[in-house]
Amino acid sequence: GSVMEKVLQRRSMRMRNMQRAWQESPEGRTMLEFRKSLPSFKDKERLLQAIARNQVIVVSGETGCGKTTQLPQYILESEIESGRGAFCNIICTQPRRISAMAVSERVSAERGEPLGETVGFKVRLEGMRGKNTHLLFCTSGILLRRLLSDRNLNGVTHVFVDEIHERGMNEDFLIIVLKELLPRRPDLRLILMSATLNAELFSNYYGGAPTIHIPGFTHPVKAHFLEDVLEITGYKLTSFNQVDDYGQEKTWKTQKQLMPRKRKNQITTLVEDALTKSNFESYNSRTRDSLSSWMPDCIGFNLIEAVLCHICRKERPGAVLVFLTGWDDIRSLSDQIKAHPLLGDPNRVLLLMCHGSMATAEQRLIFERAPPNIRKIVLATNMAEASITINDVVFVVDCGKAKETTYDALNNTPCLLPSWISQASARQRRGRAGRLLPGECYHLYPKCVYDAFAEYQLPELLRTPLNSLCLQIKSLQVDSIAEFLSAALQAPESLAVQNAIGFLKMIGALNEKENLTDLGKLLSILPVDPKLGKMLIMGAIFRCFDPILTIVSGLSVRDPFLLPQDKKDLALSAKLRFSAKDYSDHMALVRAFEGWKDAEREGSAYEFCWRNFLSAQTLQAIHSLRKQFNYILKEAGLVHDDSALNNKLSHNQSLVRAIICSGLFPGIASVVHRETSMSFKTMDDGQVSLYANSVNSRFPTIPYPWLVFGEKVKVNAVLIRDSTGVPDSSLILFGGALSTGVQVGHLKMLDGYIDFFMDPNLADSYVKLKGELDKLLQR
Ligand code: ADP
Ligand code: MG
Repeated sequence: GSVMEKVLQRRSMRMRNMQRAWQESPEGRTMLEFRKSLPSFKDKERLLQAIARNQVIVVSGETGCGKTTQLPQYILESEIESGRGAFCNIICTQPRRISAMAVSERVSAERGEPLGETVGFKVRLEGMRGKNTHLLFCTSGILLRRLLSDRNLNGVTHVFVDEIHERGMNEDFLIIVLKELLPRRPDLRLILMSATLNAELFSNYYGGAPTIHIPGFTHPVKAHFLEDVLEITGYKLTSFNQVDDYGQEKTWKTQKQLMPRKRKNQITTLVEDALTKSNFESYNSRTRDSLSSWMPDCIGFNLIEAVLCHICRKERPGAVLVFLTGWDDIRSLSDQIKAHPLLGDPNRVLLLMCHGSMATAEQRLIFERAPPNIRKIVLATNMAEASITINDVVFVVDCGKAKETTYDALNNTPCLLPSWISQASARQRRGRAGRLLPGECYHLYPKCVYDAFAEYQLPELLRTPLNSLCLQIKSLQVDSIAEFLSAALQAPESLAVQNAIGFLKMIGALNEKENLTDLGKLLSILPVDPKLGKMLIMGAIFRCFDPILTIVSGLSVRDPFLLPQDKKDLALSAKLRFSAKDYSDHMALVRAFEGWKDAEREGSAYEFCWRNFLSAQTLQAIHSLRKQFNYILKEAGLVHDDSALNNKLSHNQSLVRAIICSGLFPGIASVVHRETSMSFKTMDDGQVSLYANSVNSRFPTIPYPWLVFGEKVKVNAVLIRDSTGVPDSSLILFGGALSTGVQVGHLKMLDGYIDFFMDPNLADSYVKLKGELDKLLQR
């Protein structure tokens, strides 16, 4: 063969020698013993054969049976053992970055190698892999990105798509793309892995691909529903109005302080219904909505606390995993727990958190065992449901809800609400308690509520806006987006697709013929939402890169401004201090970030965060994202090495405002002043309100005719999160087609222009840069 072939052969020999040496070492043997104890090991040969004989197979098995860490490893090992190690190239996708990182670290450890050698990982803006990497764990988003530039996945021998049962948008998307790719790559092997038993759905999608089920082994887990939980904890819940009526039949007695007054009646009825009705038929999917409000968080928290106390006092050793709806809940509950005499005692309880955006060092702690006599309690989002396995968990507390985004295509509005999980999720959560020993699961809802849960959750593709997705589809050189998406396992509504296409046209990413513009091409390589990508590009072109970089990084991480329930007002006034008279949450973010950098230089970052209710962790994350975006834009040739040049106009407030507008448009609301109040109206005549933690909600009036915002979310009303006041001129310049359309009459057009060009610096730069901009926006 060629020289290359010889090199690879030599490397394969070396890989084999190293693998054998490890397997024969004492540590290697111990590790192998452990791996042999996993359920998947018994099926190893069967799996390898099936993969050799079929282009596509579907593997299902209980969480923890060894799919993710073992299956790709079996292939790797057998290729290495047969002297072909350097020729194989395995990719295994994960829905979340944290699992890609955790799993690759685990597999490296199982192979006695440092991470980044044979086994590596790659997630958005971060990764560890080298020229010797032959097994790569990455997020599904990363593989999709690779497919954009490498449509045939040249050199890849095996693709594993993991956790497909979750029906994440990227996984559903990957499945379509790979289906189309397979005929062109007959030697490529595709393995779909799923935890629960809807495997035949995927098998059918691939024309009846063989399915292999790994019989799992988990210890039995006893399920306690709310009725039991109340009994165990001695916690009592009942009607306020009619204690007598209920006192006799059932003793759900009152604990007044637990119930918020204004909602008590509503809660009362629903709780009564739920607890006393033996027949739950009336709660069909239509009433599920009203059910979701019957247990407010404050009852939930106190009840969780009571369950945790019960476990700590009465139960055998073992870690506790608590499922909550989101980061906010995790934070509030953790504050509450820390103040508790028993649970807050660090000599008795090790309290940890597990959520999507935590730092790597923190992640590692979750997997470690607690010292003897210390109870490990992990507060988690539904991330810990399937993709992460914490072995020593014996107790699970399940609040029954998850924050789920849904998408209202009719109003083109994403909704983010904690809603009831599916039965599949509830079972999955329960299963987490039986990894090593028989476990206990405390579901904080009655059995009858569980019975009313949907069987499975709706696929993400059907409940999110499709803007980014459609942009990516176009970059695959697909002609018709709609036609492409109609090949999905479950196709999204055509209205949702039309909305996305309309949006991409409006921001100039697609032209009238639905083809990518230059801007669109650029946006498709930036790993952020197209809106934010556009803002970054504009910030670079207009030489006010620094503040925009901070804003975009902040919007893609999360809000660094903390809002502790009991100190809301203090926290808000702290935020206001950063906002001078800017009427802008985005500007407040920029100032807070800059203040933090200054404080850091002076060694008082901790104090600064504490005083201003800022999350140091989030600011740190923003800091590293900034660096990464900066790097990408530099690579794309939009940012110069000289930072002074990039930031020539960073201090020009009206320019920064205009750039924010250019990115967030058409997220815009007009400010309607009334005598004593203000209201806000969107382009489509919808009414929106401000989030309580927006600086703009603190002013009686706003001296700008418009507010631009990143996101509107339907919670109870339609709320807009972060917003910035902008003058007419911003809209004229960056308001896309709309500025020449309906709204023109509304604008004091001339004034706007004059304002704008009065600033000689700005006018000068605008004229100079207009050419650059035009080129970029060329259709
Ligand atoms: P599956 O993908 O089928 O859910 P995994 O391959 O993730 O299962 O995990 C298999 C087993 O490997 C787990 O049950 C656990 O015992 C062990 N394991 C996985 N990750 C780790 C880790 N980070 N540390 C220690 N053990 C782990
Ligand atoms: Mg797994």
